[in-house]
Amino acid sequence: MAALRCFARTIASKKIISAKGTGNLETLRYITSSGIPGLSETHQLLRKTCRDFADNELAPNAGKIDRECTYPKEHVKMLGDLGLMCVDISEEDGGTGLDYLAYAIAMEEISRGCATAGVIMSVNNSLYLGPIKAYATKEQKEKFMYPFLHGDKVGCFALSEPGNGSDAGAASTTATLVGNEWVLNGTKAWITNGYESEATVVFATTDKQLKHKGISAFLVPKPTEGLTLGKKESKLGIRASSTCNLIFEDCRIPKENLLGEPGFGFKIAMQTLDSGRIGIAAQGLGIAQAALECAIDYAQKRQAFGMPISKTQIIQTKLSDMEVMIESARLLTWKAAMLKDSGQPITKYAAMAKLAASEAATQCAHQAIQVLGGMGYVTDMPAERHYRDARITEIYEGTSEIQKLVIAGQLLKEYASV
Ligand SMILES: Cc1cc2nc3c(=O)[nH]c(=O)nc-3n(C[C@H](O)[C@H](O)[C@H](O)COP(=O)(O)OP(=O)(O)OC[C@H]3O[C@@H](n4cnc5c(N)ncnc54)[C@H](O)[C@@H]3O)c2cc1C
Repeated sequence: MAALRCFARTIASKKIISAKGTGNLETLRYITSSGIPGLSETHQLLRKTCRDFADNELAPNAGKIDRECTYPKEHVKMLGDLGLMCVDISEEDGGTGLDYLAYAIAMEEISRGCATAGVIMSVNNSLYLGPIKAYATKEQKEKFMYPFLHGDKVGCFALSEPGNGSDAGAASTTATLVGNEWVLNGTKAWITNGYESEATVVFATTDKQLKHKGISAFLVPKPTEGLTLGKKESKLGIRASSTCNLIFEDCRIPKENLLGEPGFGFKIAMQTLDSGRIGIAAQGLGIAQAALECAIDYAQKRQAFGMPISKTQIIQTKLSDMEVMIESARLLTWKAAMLKDSGQPITKYAAMAKLAASEAATQCAHQAIQVLGGMGYVTDMPAERHYRDARITEIYEGTSEIQKLVIAGQLLKEYASV
């Protein structure tokens, strides 16, 4: 609660919301109408705060940074000042000290305003700080956690390779212990925040014979000699975030930069992705919600055949289908987050949440364009950006096909043990 008070104070001082904490009426109406009984006051306040910030700061610039492919450095710093770059890091460690449900709520609202800001926030929170929170030593935290909490520095997570994405256990980047140093060689692909990050969690094999059991996790500061960046990928969506290869050529790091036990890297990566998927589900929800709101607004204003198109049943069906998809996916996402907060297994629920929310994002964005007709197809309106941004949620942190394998695998295990 202390963290949130500080959070609200920070926002009030920035005049993003008034000092009395009364946001605009629309926001209040939204929270009341879709608030879930039992969602705590803290979570509701956080939701409203993030929504105000996204409406006032992120959404007005989201189209511009997308067109220009410019990394939103100032917004990242603001997210950091608001405590949103380290949501579930304990106050003892200098973080915001909220839970994963809070993280999911914040991720949705930030992504509703700007999906690029959402992915930058999610990589720092769940993919970079997540494994550090779980496995770093005190000394590693000093160097690799504390400077990355408030948006001054961001981190990245390097698991995928050009030759293997879904099959992460087939990592071919190697780490060899030479004296007191690990020497890394290989290429990591598609790394979000690759250009701006000042450290990365890297997965490399110390023994290829052991397959995934030979993979370990390492902390690598950036820049480091022997680590270069590939070209910035030109992407369909989330265009203001950077994505590139990290190329390791005899890159030497101290022996003590091993994260966790040797051979535990694959386990660390899978645990990190389980949690990360809740964040990406929330990103999908934010994009879906933005698309729905854009469609409703247009449908109420657009006249055809002498009436607003929102009065036609076919448009109403589209809107109701979108709402059902979003609310269903939101319940799954919040359930996955609450399971994590209560220390229960999350693998199946995180995968179900990501699958449902990413499908909601792509389908809602698709239908929003349809509701807008020609206006949905041009960059004057945000619908086409939501459509482009939505697509990646079905790909990164495990494709939809991989989520289905994970869900079925867990399900079969549950029934085998009955
Ligand atoms: C914009 C962007 C940002 C990213 N950010 C990061 C990052 O920060 N860090 C990181 O490590 N990675 C990142 N990735 C990589 C991402 O996680 C991978 O692209 C993803 O896991 C898929 O891997 P792949 O591209 O190699 O596809 P592949 O694994 O080659 O899959 C190709 C197709 O085959 C299907 N497929 C593969 N195996 C199976 C199977 N067993 N059964 C059924 N279908 C299967 C897939 O579902 C997919 O449809 C990012 C990717 C993108 C595009």
